[in-house]
Amino acid sequence: MLPTLWSCGTLSVPEERRLGRKTERELRKEFDFIRDPIVVGYVEQIGRRVVEQTEPQPYDYRFFVVENEEINAFALPAGYVYVHTGTILKARNASELAGVIAHEIGHVALRHTAESYNRERNTGIAHQMLILLAGVFGGSYAAGAANLGGAVAGRAYLTIYTREHEEAADAFAIEILPKVGIHPEGLVTFFETLSEEGGSKAPVFLSTHPASETRRDAARKLIDGKPLPEGLRDEDGGRLEIIQRRIRLLTGDTEK
Ligand SMILES: [Zn+2]
Repeated sequence: MLPTLWSCGTLSVPEERRLGRKTERELRKEFDFIRDPIVVGYVEQIGRRVVEQTEPQPYDYRFFVVENEEINAFALPAGYVYVHTGTILKARNASELAGVIAHEIGHVALRHTAESYNRERNTGIAHQMLILLAGVFGGSYAAGAANLGGAVAGRAYLTIYTREHEEAADAFAIEILPKVGIHPEGLVTFFETLSEEGGSKAPVFLSTHPASETRRDAARKLIDGKPLPEGLRDEDGGRLEIIQRRIRLLTGDTEK
């Protein structure tokens, strides 16, 4: 229940809000965002449907689409959720994209960032870690790491989420998606998309530990052991494809 979660010495909700706001302001300067209301609205309506099925939370969720071809997504404390255009373009169906969004909402709803920062006992370092986390997506991990100095940078990537956090966020997505009528299988198949596309650079969504195969297998097991209602969908009547075409037009990506 929420009261137990909130009273165990992690960052307080107001602290989380401050940290999220501060980091969001900096990311605003760092990234190019897609502002097209149709594209952003599409991501937002998936996110809102997921949030509606989650226990009441003290956060105002906000959804952003980052113009970046790498496959990635991440969340800041207190409900700032970012999805890269690369993720939307590579998703093979709506279930894959919804799986990623639900996973990120899971990190917020389960207060993983708050826990991580409590371990650091220093919101200044926490803030730097978040910037670094986001920088990994933006391809500026090396630059970010250099600014931060080895000790913090090394820890940041490894401790932002634990293995348990990743598994819990996957389990959260698998639990919630059927409630909004979406088949959770997309979370599993997206791991395959990631390993096909990933190359040498592991996106933060994978968070490097445990390996994507381990997470994929764990997610598969959870889905197989779950009685799923009839009629879950993995596509959304062609809306994803329309959004993908729109992103390509907006970004001038006419090749694919
Ligand atoms: Zn994650």
